[in-house]
Amino acid sequence: MAEKSKSKGELLQEKLTMKRRDIGEELSEKQLKEIDAFCEPYKAFLDASKTEREAVETTVAMLKAKGYKEFVPGKKYKAGDKVYMNNRGKALAFAAIGTKPIEEGVRLNISHIDSPRLDLKPSPLYEEAGLGLFKTHYYGGIKKYQWGTIPLSLHGVIVKQDGSKVTVRLGEDEGDPVFCVNDLLPHLGKEQAKRPLGEGLRGEELNILVGSRPFKDDKVSEKVKLNILALLNKKYGIVEADFLSAELSVVPAFKASDVGFDRSLIGSYGHDDRVCAWTSLQAALDVDKPTTTWVTVFADKEEIGSVGATGLDSDFVRYFVEDLAAPYGVEGRTVLSKSKCLSADVNAGFDPTFADVMEKMNSCFLNKGVVVTKYTGAGGKSGTNDASAEYTAWVERVLSKDGVIWQTGELGKVDAGGGGTVAKFVSYMNVDTIDIGVPVLSMHAPFEIVAKTDVYMTYRAFRAFLLAE
Ligand code: MN
Ligand code: MN
Repeated sequence: MAEKSKSKGELLQEKLTMKRRDIGEELSEKQLKEIDAFCEPYKAFLDASKTEREAVETTVAMLKAKGYKEFVPGKKYKAGDKVYMNNRGKALAFAAIGTKPIEEGVRLNISHIDSPRLDLKPSPLYEEAGLGLFKTHYYGGIKKYQWGTIPLSLHGVIVKQDGSKVTVRLGEDEGDPVFCVNDLLPHLGKEQAKRPLGEGLRGEELNILVGSRPFKDDKVSEKVKLNILALLNKKYGIVEADFLSAELSVVPAFKASDVGFDRSLIGSYGHDDRVCAWTSLQAALDVDKPTTTWVTVFADKEEIGSVGATGLDSDFVRYFVEDLAAPYGVEGRTVLSKSKCLSADVNAGFDPTFADVMEKMNSCFLNKGVVVTKYTGAGGKSGTNDASAEYTAWVERVLSKDGVIWQTGELGKVDAGGGGTVAKFVSYMNVDTIDIGVPVLSMHAPFEIVAKTDVYMTYRAFRAFLLAE
């Protein structure tokens, strides 16, 4: 039977109105299966990269395997050359040199590889009531109550007084012990239950249980603490004072896994923002002979305001571009002012359980594609970059031309809260930039959710950006 011809109104509606596309509806079973397969290595990347240091290490190994060489400032690179610059083991910039002259600008794709977590305090270890515990200071925006009574693992480095460094990764492998933050039993939680949610567990209650067995010697006190120090000394060669010169973080110990009967979702710690890092890496590896030089950046410290030498408020990206340009006698600012950037970060996906903080017309939804976010920020657009209409149109054109399924989004209702990304730090360099990334549920929770189709479309968006004329 022939399809009923469309009415004038139907045709006009098709032509004039904007509709969100649904990837699950549009793509074939075969295409969806391919997307599922595409996401398998992403889960492995998440499990291997629970801190920025681990993400850098994992990525550098992948880049080296693909022929990337350590960047040498002052060297004149030619089209097709591939380099990486490891910033203190915590941030990364890598590039493929294009055939176009560098003064015509570069493509910057910048995500971040740090995630909210609990950091150990400089003097963390204590004993009380026969229990050994670590004091922590939370890193990034967390809902503290979510960190109680879940298995946690310990990651990081300790630099000893002689300058040697030990790497810690405990609680991830089969047979490893894990750690945890205790909570009060409901039977005695009557007063605690009256606290505001933000204080369900307070900052100073996020103490990590690390042991309970005493060192056998009647002549000493704090035997549990001593026993833990003895074990740490045996395993890592450290003494208590070495905690001062350490970066030790406690993160969820569980692995990334499929979520749902249909396996359409991935649950994991740290999707924000390793989902954009990993997809930008896949796009970069695809486009290793570009026309326009691209620079992909994995930044640190985004979750605490892009501070520090490895955060985007530092000039390391600017210096990297300047160093790429200098051998051609081109000023970095000439390159940057002609460059284009994607600030690759996640956005809050619409969650029907918490619909009242969202404005439906301007929210992003899972399985409806990569989300383009013109501005983030809070209040009256404070703390955002607010992409120009011209640049927004260019990005939309690039995505649509390549068949990428994308949607637009804002970070919740006006005045419901807000947040920022690295975009505003990129704009300091006089670079056009826009936020783009994957919709996430339960953002900043120990177990965040993304949809596989959105992960795939984000990769496609990044690839289209690197290839675009
Ligand atoms: Mn983020
Ligand atoms: Mn975040």
